[in-house]
Amino acid sequence: MQRSDGGEKHMKYSIAIDGPAGAGKSTVAQRLAKELNIPYLNTGAMYRALAFFALEKGIALDDKAAVAQLIKDVTVTVFHEGDEQHTVLNGFDCTDFLRSETVSQGASKISKLPVVRDALASVQRQLAQSRPMVLEGRDIGTNVLFDTPYKFYVTASAHERTRRRVRQLLQLGQEVDFDSILSEIISRDERDTNREYMPLRQAEDAVLIDTTELSIEEAVNIIKKTVEEKRDALLLR
Ligand code: C5P
Repeated sequence: MQRSDGGEKHMKYSIAIDGPAGAGKSTVAQRLAKELNIPYLNTGAMYRALAFFALEKGIALDDKAAVAQLIKDVTVTVFHEGDEQHTVLNGFDCTDFLRSETVSQGASKISKLPVVRDALASVQRQLAQSRPMVLEGRDIGTNVLFDTPYKFYVTASAHERTRRRVRQLLQLGQEVDFDSILSEIISRDERDTNREYMPLRQAEDAVLIDTTELSIEEAVNIIKKTVEEKRDALLLR
């Protein structure tokens, strides 16, 4: 028996996609959201925005008291223009300032602090409560959306992730050094997986997708198929 609603089976829960830096999560999550016609939230951009703000203010990213004060003074929101997510900090669209290596490393430093993680997880949960969406980050399946049945852990070897980053930077006309990018990726992986509070982990009930030898399209199709199967099983309950 299949229950239907106007001929369509609606998603009740949001989709959680976690994984290390450069594994293709953002592209996969964005493509998936588009195909399912639901919104997409890149949660890393919110951590980046806070790191950017702290750096601008000259606050040390490990200064718990100063960062806690900063969080009180700041509102982080997002909006979408076409496929692109814009991240807004106290009314200022800071999207164009978030991709530098300084901000990447800064985000992984500031995200160690529980005060930061709790504040952002709460905003992310509120957004996902209003309607199903695709959330992508490091702690979505283990924390933010721990009760969703749709969890995926997208990864790839560190060398493959470096190769992809090098390709991206070359396309942007930037000079690149493979070894320094590899060591940046490894240091971010280490910080993200070894932090005490809400480290990057594959949730026990998450489906592992290794994209080392997969195209974006193949990864998206695996996720879509898994979501459909799980959703059908839930509808039949
Ligand atoms: O996903 P992205 O690489 O933009 O994230 C930047 C950094 O923000 C990560 O290295 C991680 O330290 C932090 N982050 C996090 N939890 C999330 C999303 C990002 O700790 N849900």
